[in-house]
Parts: sequence; C-alpha cells; structure tokens
Amino acid sequence: MSQETMPNWLDKRAKLTPNRVAIYFEKESITFEQLRQQSLQLAKKLTTIGVRKGTHLAVYGHNSVDFVRCVHAISYIGAVGVFLNTKLTAKEIVYQIEDAQCNYVIYDDALIEQMECVRDQTEVTACSFSALQRITITPFERKEEVDLADLHTILYTSGTTGYPKGVMLSYGNHWWSAVSSALNLGISDKDEWLVAMPLFHVGGLSTLFKSVIYGMPVHLYASFDVEAVHEAIMHQGVSHVSVVSLMANRLLKRLGEGQYPSCFRCMLLGGGPAAKPLLERAAMKQIPIIQTYGMTETSSQIVTLSAEDALKKIGSAGKALFSAECKIMIDYQEARPNEVGEIVVKGPMVTKGYYNRPDVNAQTIIDGWLYTGDAGYLDEDGYLYVVDRRKDLIISGGENIYPAEIESVLIGMEAINEVGVIGQEDCKWGQVPVAFIVVNKSYEVTFDEVMEYTQPKLAKYKLPKRIYVVSSLPRNASNKLMRRQLAEWLERGDVRIEHAL
Ligand code: ATP
Ligand code: MG
Repeated sequence: MSQETMPNWLDKRAKLTPNRVAIYFEKESITFEQLRQQSLQLAKKLTTIGVRKGTHLAVYGHNSVDFVRCVHAISYIGAVGVFLNTKLTAKEIVYQIEDAQCNYVIYDDALIEQMECVRDQTEVTACSFSALQRITITPFERKEEVDLADLHTILYTSGTTGYPKGVMLSYGNHWWSAVSSALNLGISDKDEWLVAMPLFHVGGLSTLFKSVIYGMPVHLYASFDVEAVHEAIMHQGVSHVSVVSLMANRLLKRLGEGQYPSCFRCMLLGGGPAAKPLLERAAMKQIPIIQTYGMTETSSQIVTLSAEDALKKIGSAGKALFSAECKIMIDYQEARPNEVGEIVVKGPMVTKGYYNRPDVNAQTIIDGWLYTGDAGYLDEDGYLYVVDRRKDLIISGGENIYPAEIESVLIGMEAINEVGVIGQEDCKWGQVPVAFIVVNKSYEVTFDEVMEYTQPKLAKYKLPKRIYVVSSLPRNASNKLMRRQLAEWLERGDVRIEHAL
C-alpha cells in the first residue's frame, strides 16, 4: 500500500460497525453493511451500462438513499461523480454536463420531465434510478482502495458571481475536510447528523463522507421542513444539524421559549452571511450555533468557530481548521489585524482547481493559496470576520462600503422582508448605495421611515440614496442573492421595479 491509499471508506466502516445505522430517510433506516452491499450492487449495474474507472458520471437527483448509494458506488468503480443541482433549468444542466464532459447521467425518476428536455439538447446517455434497478449484473473489477490523489467529485459552485465553475474534489479533499472538522468539533459515538440541505451541494455531500469516516448516522431529509427537523432534534437523538441562516431563523422561531435536549450539540451555520440579531438571539437562549466559513472549493467549512468561542466571538466565522490556514491579503501583502482584504486559504481540503479552467486556476490558486474573492478581516485574536464578496464593494467618495452591512441593518426593519444593496453610478460620488426591498404585505413604508430607522445605525455615506420596491429579489438555484442582476434591472429600468420610495 502506498502512502496515498487506504481501504475503501464504506468497506472499512462496514467492517468496524456493520450494524450501526448509516442513513435514516423517511421511514427507512439502513445500516453500514446494508449500504455497502447495496452500493456494490449499484456499482455492478453502472458497470453494466458502461461506466468505468475515470468515467464522468452525472447524478441528477433529489436527496434520497439512491443518491447516497451513488456516492459510494462511484468509489467502488473509480468513476468521477458530477452532482447536478435539481433546481437548474435544462439549459443550465446541459451546460454543466458538457462542461464536465459527462458520458452518463443517472437520474431520479421524479425528474423525468426535466431530463427529457436535457436529452433533447445533448447526446449524453441517460438512465433513471428505476431503470438501473432492472438491469442485470455483470461481474466487475471493483476498486479495493481509495487513492487520496484521485478525483471523486466535480461539483459546481452556486453561480452567484458568474457562471458556475466545476470544482474538482479528490478523496484527499473529502478526507481532510471530515477529519479536520472532527478535530474541531470532536466525535462521540452518540453523534447523529441531520441534513436537510441538498446533497448536490458540498454542505450536504460532505456529511456523507463524515458519516462513513466517523461511523455516524445521518438523518437525511428530502427538503427542509421546519416541523420535521424540529421534531427530530427534540425527540430523535440528533446531535448536529447543518443549516443556512434562513433555516436557523425558522428553527429558532419554532423552538420559541422551549429548549433543545442536552444531546443536541450544535447547529452548524454556513453558506452565507448570518445576521447578527439571529446569532445574538441564539446566544441569549444558549443555543449552540456555530458559524462556519467555506465554499465548494474548500470541500465545505475551512474556518469554524469552536464551541467554546461561540458566545465570545459572535459574528465571527472562527479560525482555520487544524490542517488549514487563513490569511487576509491586500495587494499581495498580508493585512494587519482588523484591516479588510481578500480572504485567502490553504489546506488539504482545498481543491486543486476548476475542471478545464487553467486561466481561472492561475488567477485563483497562487503558491498553493486559494484567493476566495471574499472580503474579510482577522481581529487581533486571529478570528475571521467575513465582510462580503469583494466584487460587490461600493466605493463612494473614496469610502469603501460593503453592501452586506447595509443589508443586515435594513433587514432588521419589521416592514422589510428581503433586501439587496448595490452601488449605482453617481456623478458626484462615483457610486452611491441603493437598496432594493421586498415589503411585508401588511405594512406600508416610506423613504423617511427607512431613513429614521437606519440613520442611527449607519454612517451617513452608507445610507441608501434610493430605495426601490420590488416584489421579489433575483436569487439563484441556491437561493443566494444575485446582486449583478439588480444592477441589470436598474440599467434597463426593469418592470420588476415597482416604484422608488
Ligand atoms: P460562485 O462561486 O459561482 O459565484 P458561490 O460562491 O455562491 O458561487 P458556493 O461555493 O456555494 O458558491 O458558496 C461559497 C460562498 O458563500 C463563499 O465564497 C462566501 O461568499 C459565501 N459564504 C460562505 N460562508 C459564509 C459566511 N460564514 N459568511 C459570509 N459568506 C459566506
Ligand atoms: Mg464562489
């Protein structure tokens, strides 16, 4: 065995704890040994249809046990999984299938209609989960070991700042992501992780690797249903739950004056900015929300607040995990504490690059450091605070303004349901911040009222100069705000802008 290889993770796990539950899904539960056998069966069937070592195999499905089997079957064959976002349009799916050079797509039967459209536009060989089940098995040469340098996944970024990019993630990336998280959070044989986020994003997918590496059951949900998740935390022995801030908000509301049971260890919050009022409310109620910072390129979290710091450093994403490093760069010089610059990270969970994008790779990964495109700072104790996307910086009269700061103030107003801020060209100041708001139906709101609310909270140059009322904000398939589309709306005088306050 070379130093780069180790036994297949699911095989090893099934040897160590065969009867422990691997996945709870709907009314079903399956043990690690059952998952191993079923994944091997699936690997044989995939081989029958032509999938081989190195084949790029797209998986197009909602969260399900079938999806989990695919993730492991891929490792028995040595194929590369390309997990497609089910919320994308057929055109976007076709782009990813072609960009990642997929030869095969296997898909959830529930997505047959979308798949028909995709099929019309590309030559890829497609097979549904149910059709795969009917296929007879042919003998296959299974891969006994995993090589940490081999690719397991090509995963697309959310496409918030431009076209989604295919991130190559190796076994080593996934391994170190799981191990580094364990070195921070610790593991116990009582841990059970609830996942109601899609498995086609790294936040969901990474928990499947944690499950086999730690020997930990995953409670998998098809989607986020606040009632079901609340119930599972209260009564089903869940210790960890992965959430984005919208989910955390709804869970906290649902909990009301209640308390989570003592076996509940933490809510891992990531994927985007978290509003400070949410974190403060959680802190007041002693709910262990742990902020994390990461991205597809870092195989999920790379910076995380430890449980012991969760209340001391509210608003911070914490420190780089044990195997990772994080620094702030300004014009290729390291920033001083509290100075905002670009967040730059390094570690064995960081991708080697985007698939077939040598141009972007050369700009993004320099001397082994990944330039994230995010703005942030480290405080005097070395804790990271994520400020915003660098691209979205507004420079007004020479002052730097990050839209996220203004958004987090405006969202605190009862009358405002959603908000997005961008810079608009201005002949006097260069740029000025303007806000787009979705107003809560039961309120009417005036410009003066918004100003009255924001003036005590923001410096004058940060106050939005214009406020546009819209019925909804442009979001991508990951529900992230697409600020560049707001700029297009303004330029075009789009009809979606109802009126200006
Ligand atoms: P694209 O790269 O295609 O524009 P994306 O960056 O939104 O899309 P993801 O990899 O899903 O794609 O998201 C990672 C990004 O999410 C980070 O780069 C960062 O901007 C944001 N993010 C993650 N964690 C946090 C956090 N704790 N606070 C603020 N922003 C965060
Ligand atoms: Mg990104």
